Amino acid sequence: ERWDVVVVGSVNADLVVGVERRPAPGETVLGSDLAVHPGGKGANQAVAAARLGGRAALVGRVGDDGHGALLRGALAAAGVGLDHLATTPGVPTGVALITVGPDGDNSIIVSPGANARLGPADVAAARDLIAAASVVSFQLEVPLPAVEAAAGVAGGRVVLNLSPPAPVPAGLLARCDPLVVNEHEAAYLLDGEPGDPRDAAAALARSGPRSAVVTLGADGAVVADGDGVTAIPAPAADAVDTTGAGDAFTAALCLRLARGDALRDAARYAARAGAAAVRRRGAQSSFPTPAELPAP
Ligand code: ATP
Repeated sequence: ERWDVVVVGSVNADLVVGVERRPAPGETVLGSDLAVHPGGKGANQAVAAARLGGRAALVGRVGDDGHGALLRGALAAAGVGLDHLATTPGVPTGVALITVGPDGDNSIIVSPGANARLGPADVAAARDLIAAASVVSFQLEVPLPAVEAAAGVAGGRVVLNLSPPAPVPAGLLARCDPLVVNEHEAAYLLDGEPGDPRDAAAALARSGPRSAVVTLGADGAVVADGDGVTAIPAPAADAVDTTGAGDAFTAALCLRLARGDALRDAARYAARAGAAAVRRRGAQSSFPTPAELPAP
């Protein structure tokens, strides 16, 4: 089977508690009831691509615990191909511990768990799948050797979402078409102030990848490739919760690239998916079907 998008990436359970204020060191505070949601950037992007009608598969690792079962269930329900979602015995599934303050501000601790065990051997086991995919997509919540191995095997287009930001080896960067970053990640790569986003996208595209996309929240995105620099406006959206907007954007971008769109056209579609995702709470729960996209 030929997949539109194969994501090599993370699978996390998001454990969310609301608090009136953060505890100081040594202090205990009472929070709201615990909410457990499927998450992780890899799983989120695979689910978002599948919900948009794409054939999406995930290469990843979970533990043999309840969180792993929850994540598998959510991915299967979305129609994500899971033949290469492996289980690591004796290791917990990745977890994001999220406290939400009174202003909706998040503080997050990620415990990688089984994600940290994803390596080149997993990529070798999924070699045929990765080699035949139209687009292979990564984020950096899994170890870099797995990402580099997968980029080496990929026969199609490679998309890297530099989240969380970290140095990228030149060989990997040279495969990225595009590199996708938000403003913070762009500033990290460019060693300083975000500055004018058009200049940032152009500078990033000159720094090694074949093309670059900088996402700008409610201000849309900027695309830079061989055709020049293009600003992509964001459709207006009554934002309820921006969690998952970046994952929805990147997944939609990958899907349209897989279907043969030019980068700027894929980014216009991706901006519609990002806008749709801010209208509902949560990450995977907020990802749109095609019918839920705002008009172009
Ligand atoms: P997050 O971490 O919140 O998932 P991010 O920082 O990775 O997101 P953003 O740049 O905030 O990425 O958002 C990704 C895309 O989603 C934007 O490029 C834009 O197209 C869309 N988007 C985000 N916020 C809004 C908004 N308030 N209104 C319309 N579109 C939005």
